[in-house]
Amino acid sequence: KLKQPRLPSWLKTDIPVGQNFTRIKKDLRGLKLHTVCEEARCPNIGDCWGGGEHQTATATIMLMGDECTRGCRFCSVKTNRTPKPLDPHEPEHTAEAIRRWGLDYVVLTSVDRDDLADGGSDHFADTIRRIKQKAPHIYVECLTGDFGGSLESVTSVALSGLDVYAHNIETVEALTPYVRDRRANFRQSLRVLEQAKKARPDLITKTSIMLGCGETDEEVQHALEELRKVEVDCVTLGQYMRPTKRHMKVHEYVSPEKFDMWHKKGMSMGFKYVASGPLVRSSYKAGEFYISNILK
Ligand code: SF4
Ligand code: SF4
Repeated sequence: KLKQPRLPSWLKTDIPVGQNFTRIKKDLRGLKLHTVCEEARCPNIGDCWGGGEHQTATATIMLMGDECTRGCRFCSVKTNRTPKPLDPHEPEHTAEAIRRWGLDYVVLTSVDRDDLADGGSDHFADTIRRIKQKAPHIYVECLTGDFGGSLESVTSVALSGLDVYAHNIETVEALTPYVRDRRANFRQSLRVLEQAKKARPDLITKTSIMLGCGETDEEVQHALEELRKVEVDCVTLGQYMRPTKRHMKVHEYVSPEKFDMWHKKGMSMGFKYVASGPLVRSSYKAGEFYISNILK
């Protein structure tokens, strides 16, 4: 039986705060926006909201409720086969709140809604269009599910005016059935990313992989190669952290050196940027990376 390894020093972090952070937090009150950053108590909140070198503040907002129709073994979001209906005012309210908030880069994500005919893609697309109408200077990234493999849904989001289309493969192909919900599938996720690019060739595509789930280096290499084949532009690699004891165990705490190795490897394979480190998450400093690597 697998024993949980001990938490290494590089994962024990204080949450740093800066001026930007304090301002954003203050602005958030009253806007009724729920950020994943706060709700997941993300350790990167100081880095992302603080703005970094380019003073680019990034935050992640969750749409379509807090109950997911799926149950991935690494994820702490509640599962419910029949979540509440969508709030039809959410796209407008979200767009208005983001406009007032004064962020530079926003990541919109959501639970998976297999209960909806279009998986919620229209809701996503509508929200993006409204943000872009109200605040064209804000960069928008969406991090969607696989829409049950519906390429039509992917296309509708891809054509909504966003800047970055992200969909996470989460893990290597061999571990996918153990890590993700049974409705998810490595090939299907590659098709989502491929379709986003086909629908709009100048759209930046992005994905994320968690390490420490028991994958081998060869399997990670293979995943990166498959991603390049469908012209994925950006990849982030981070450590899997077990949210509670009911979730999948951590197989290994991958060393910072190994993450550096994947950064170099990925860059040599032609990704536009690779964010790789123990605390890196899919949306980690997404705005900062976008401005310094994509717009440069
Ligand atoms: Fe969590 Fe997404 Fe899986 Fe739902 S589909 S359980 S939100 S990772
Ligand atoms: Fe928010 Fe993502 Fe940054 Fe965490 S990594 S603070 S969730 S934007």
